[in-house]
Amino acid sequence: MPDDDDLNGIEALGRALLRGDEGAAAQGGELLERVGRLRERWSEQTQILDRINDSIIAMDLDGYVTSWNHGAERLFGYTAAEVVGRHILFLYADPEDDDPSFQDVFLEHGGREMEVRRRRKSGEVFWASLQLSLVRDAAGDPTAIIGYLTDITERIESQETLRLHARIFEHSDDGILITDAQERIVSVNRAFSRITGYSAEEALGQTPRLLRSGLHGPSFYAEIWRRIEVEGRWQGEIQDQRKTGETYPTWVSISAVKNIDGKITHYFSIFSDITERKRAEERIHYLAYYDALTDLPNRALFYKLVDQALIEARRNREHGALLFIDLNRFKPINDTLGHSVGDRLLQRIGLRLRETLRNEDVVARLGGDEFVVALFDIARRDHAGIVAQKLLAALDPAFVIDDHELTVGAAIGISVYPQDGADTETLLRLADIAMYRAKQTGEDGYAFYSHEMNRRALDRLKIESNLRHAIVRDELLLHYQPKVDIASGRIVGAEALVRWRHPERGMVAPVDFVPVAEETGLIIQISAWVLEAAVRQARAWQDAGLKPIKMAVNLSARDFSAALPERVDRVLAAHGLAPEWLELEITESMLMHSTERVIAMMDALAQRGITLSLDDFGTGYSSLSYLKRFPIDTLKIDRSFVLNIPTDTSDCAIAGAIAGMAKQLGHKVIAEGVETAEQLSFLKCLGCDEFQGYLFSPPVTADAFAAMLAADKRLVPEPGPLV
Ligand code: C2E
Ligand code: MG
Ligand code: MG
Repeated sequence: MPDDDDLNGIEALGRALLRGDEGAAAQGGELLERVGRLRERWSEQTQILDRINDSIIAMDLDGYVTSWNHGAERLFGYTAAEVVGRHILFLYADPEDDDPSFQDVFLEHGGREMEVRRRRKSGEVFWASLQLSLVRDAAGDPTAIIGYLTDITERIESQETLRLHARIFEHSDDGILITDAQERIVSVNRAFSRITGYSAEEALGQTPRLLRSGLHGPSFYAEIWRRIEVEGRWQGEIQDQRKTGETYPTWVSISAVKNIDGKITHYFSIFSDITERKRAEERIHYLAYYDALTDLPNRALFYKLVDQALIEARRNREHGALLFIDLNRFKPINDTLGHSVGDRLLQRIGLRLRETLRNEDVVARLGGDEFVVALFDIARRDHAGIVAQKLLAALDPAFVIDDHELTVGAAIGISVYPQDGADTETLLRLADIAMYRAKQTGEDGYAFYSHEMNRRALDRLKIESNLRHAIVRDELLLHYQPKVDIASGRIVGAEALVRWRHPERGMVAPVDFVPVAEETGLIIQISAWVLEAAVRQARAWQDAGLKPIKMAVNLSARDFSAALPERVDRVLAAHGLAPEWLELEITESMLMHSTERVIAMMDALAQRGITLSLDDFGTGYSSLSYLKRFPIDTLKIDRSFVLNIPTDTSDCAIAGAIAGMAKQLGHKVIAEGVETAEQLSFLKCLGCDEFQGYLFSPPVTADAFAAMLAADKRLVPEPGPLV
């Protein structure tokens, strides 16, 4: 800046020149010299000002920029030419800072440092420290304002960062603990106190040993320290203890903090309480491996356990056994009393099975009413049988649930390691096959797996796949067995019985494929074929001029659908056979689900004039009075009662009772499986109307049957002993 002396000197020279004083030329020369010097000094000072990194802005009292140094140019990106003459407000970042009384602001904050936000030419906003000072004239009145600005964005940002870190530290869900190099706690956050129960005051100055539960030995901690030393960090699970004494699992990460010289100054540990997570994990594990109903292992865990046990058994040359348990009589209980009772029954059954066995034996529930037991270290094969007996005996006493006395039993199949198989999968499959055999006896009991069973199981599979083709390949045929009127001894009906002419095995009896067909649903197609073939045959015999007789067709439970009456109508119409010549044999099991729907269907059939007879009567559960609800014409006394007539007195009594009551209810009675003349005489005395059996004829081909009918074959019982 030019000082007063210079200016006064120049002023005096100027005045002298104006006056035209002597030596004006010399004075003019000096004047130029002085101005030159002044210019040099001025440029020197401007350079100094420009070198100052800070930006210096001069304004008039209204805020219009009068001077703008390089620092300001660097800071804002505007050149002096762009700024000088404009109002300072255009550099403000926030319009709300736009203060109309610019001077007041200055007067308020004058001389004080402020932190302000300004905008660069690029639009970018930055933090600056601003200091304002007033320039006054000789009289002391303000003439201008000088503003000094420095960019403090970095400083502000690092302060912000620190504040942010502090906030994160404080509000983190994870507990944070910082110690000095001597492991004394110097800082903890809120979560620390929440998790551990210790306030900051209680924790500061202590060491993290405060949190130890005593569940880990010294070597555990030694290993943690070793890792921190080597890798600078350790992460893992620790069982800690809260102030209350409760222990809890935490997931901890501990790190060492080093200064520039590489010396450890602090340690910090971040930890979270993973009690909930562990619980969830346990729950997931439980759901994956346990049966929620009985708390027993499920199939997946059973496989794991047995796989493991088998490895051990192999090593120790031990024997083992799998027992496949399938409950008897559970399903009807579940169906009639509801799932809540069914579920509780399963729980109690699981408990009894578990209590009957040793701790090292495995019991699992595979689902539904199937349980499975694995025994290891059994000395002999028979021992598995003994255990099976024990299990059956355990199920013997009735279960009392909601005042219901419930009895269940079981069929148990046993496979033995290593004789039958060496892996869980095989052993389980074979035990299942053995169970299936045990089940077929119809009573509670157990069976060991044998190769014979496997062969039969495989046969079943084969039958199933071949049976699918049997219908299209026309391998099915019907045999007919006469139904004979006892009084006249003459044929009054025929029962159509299906046969399968298997290309490799020859004639297959229905017992070997009807159950498979029922399980797989193929029975529906078979029945349709049988009905069609039988009706066609009946019509053909009538057309041939033979005596009209009733044609009986067996139905299976699966055929008993709402569509049945119409299906029958269609077949009868197609062959022009009157409904009175058709008889349908149904079994008791179909009546078991006696819904209104079933009754309505039977009524529909009966109304058409079709005869309904109840096959295998006496083997099911229906009582005679119960039968009143159904439009049944005929009861067929099951062969098992006829077999021991007249020697077995109780069979005789049963047959007698069935016949007597059936008569009273207005049903006709027919006896099946009559093989001897004695049986026939006896049945006649009981009042049976008809009979069927080898005594008269086995089931025969259509031609053979037609021949008997044409010849009017007869069989009159000899007068038998009096009953
Ligand atoms: P079911 O309806 O009780 O048929 C009577 C069975 O007893 C027939 O066996 C018959 O051959 C046999 N039988 C008849 N008289 C005597 C006798 O004096 N002594 C002995 N020991 N047995 C005699 P089959 O033909 O093997 O049929 C067995 C079962 O297969 C039938 O029992 C029936 O339940 C079923 N079945 C047969 N054909 C069909 C059919 O077309 N559809 C359906 N759903 N089931 C059928
Ligand atoms: Mg029958
Ligand atoms: Mg029968």
